[in-house]
Amino acid sequence: MGAGLAGSVLAERLASIANKKVLLIDKRNHIGGNTFDYYNSDGILVHKYGPHIFHTNSKEVFDYLGKFTEWRPYEHHVLASVDGQLVPIPINQNTVNALYGLNLSGEQVQEFFDAKADKKDQILTSEDVVVNVVGKELYEKFFKHYTLKQWALDPSELDASVTARVPTRTNKDNRYFTDKFQAMPLRGYTKMFHNLLDHPNIHIMLNTDYKDVMDEINFKTLIYSGPIDAYFDYCFGKLPYRSIDFKSQTIDSENYQAVGTVNYPMSQAYTRITEFKHLTGQKHDKTSIVYEYPTADGDPYYPIPRKENTEIYNQYKTLADSEPNTFFTGRLGTYKYYNMDQVVAQSLALFKKLNIKEVAFVNGNGSHR
Ligand code: FAD
Ligand code: UDP
Repeated sequence: MGAGLAGSVLAERLASIANKKVLLIDKRNHIGGNTFDYYNSDGILVHKYGPHIFHTNSKEVFDYLGKFTEWRPYEHHVLASVDGQLVPIPINQNTVNALYGLNLSGEQVQEFFDAKADKKDQILTSEDVVVNVVGKELYEKFFKHYTLKQWALDPSELDASVTARVPTRTNKDNRYFTDKFQAMPLRGYTKMFHNLLDHPNIHIMLNTDYKDVMDEINFKTLIYSGPIDAYFDYCFGKLPYRSIDFKSQTIDSENYQAVGTVNYPMSQAYTRITEFKHLTGQKHDKTSIVYEYPTADGDPYYPIPRKENTEIYNQYKTLADSEPNTFFTGRLGTYKYYNMDQVVAQSLALFKKLNIKEVAFVNGNGSHR
């Protein structure tokens, strides 16, 4: 259930390696989950659910997806609009020099940070992570307000893992990610999904809430990649998610901004603007951009990493572990703030686990199918 990366990777593995018949159900009218991209009415390739940039350190994940797409090398760059300037984020040597009109070496930038840092004994929150390295001033310029907008929580109320996604550097590396493999599917994510799911054992049912058809379908195993709290009818209460309103715009000019994404960590209601052509490499005389306005209501996009939510999730996880023939995976199924590559790795690992179980079962009791 769920035709995003989590469900589709398992569908592909089960169909092609384990020779299972798979019914893939999604309530949306398309495959690809949140990575779905399409050509808009101006013929520009855009991402429906916000910018998706692929990056991973896992050769296994990169090679696996590489069976279903060619890659276009792409390294994402982000600028932050701070104090009337556009400066690189993650904060690095170039950021400090531009912001303060300095010309510091890497070593001197380290000294600069050390002088400003507000050292913590323990790094528990998303505030601690940043102030521990660069101090309050840079924290307030780059992280505090952006985080408040994105999560409606102060960084001190969020797990350290959230802002730790954007580490500080003392060198001049302006790239947003430093992963070994950084590339975009050459013809887009949706095309990659078409290839992934193109197997005679896979049947796809769109526009369908799985709950409406479960009673009519004969199945042995359910792989569930929707929100785990919804599966259990919210019996332990709702898990909070953060959503986003995406406001897109096509502009009658070839380019809009210098890099893929510009972050707005100050008072604007939106967090960032992304120009898709940087990501996709498409040539077009117009360009499309998307503004992201975080909201509480709407599709569940972001699990919110903090202790009280993990505690609720753990209650659901205990129930999930005892649910017969049902397996939970993906960003919503396991309530984890996972990137695409982590979701693929998680589903590949679950497939291995299922396949091992199957072998044990077949050996002991005859065919399971
Ligand atoms: P999803 O893609 O959410 O798929 C779950 C599917 O289940 C959905 O299609 C949904 O319709 C379906 N579903 C739910 N309930 C039901 C139901 N009752 N019946 C039927 N179907 C149902 N990752 C990166 O690596 N790089 C990025 O740059 C990046 N940018 C992101 C930007 C944004 C704004 C967001 C929100 C996420 C971003 N991600 C990024 C994360 C990435 O989207 C996820 O890691 C990945 O798409 C998760 O895949 P999934 O299959 O777990 O979930
Ligand atoms: N963040 C921030 N300022 C920035 C970029 C990121 O405060 O300029 C914080 C914010 O809390 C954000 C988190 O770091 O939610 C993770 O950033 P990332 O770009 O990884 O977010 P995503 O792409 O997953 O939305």
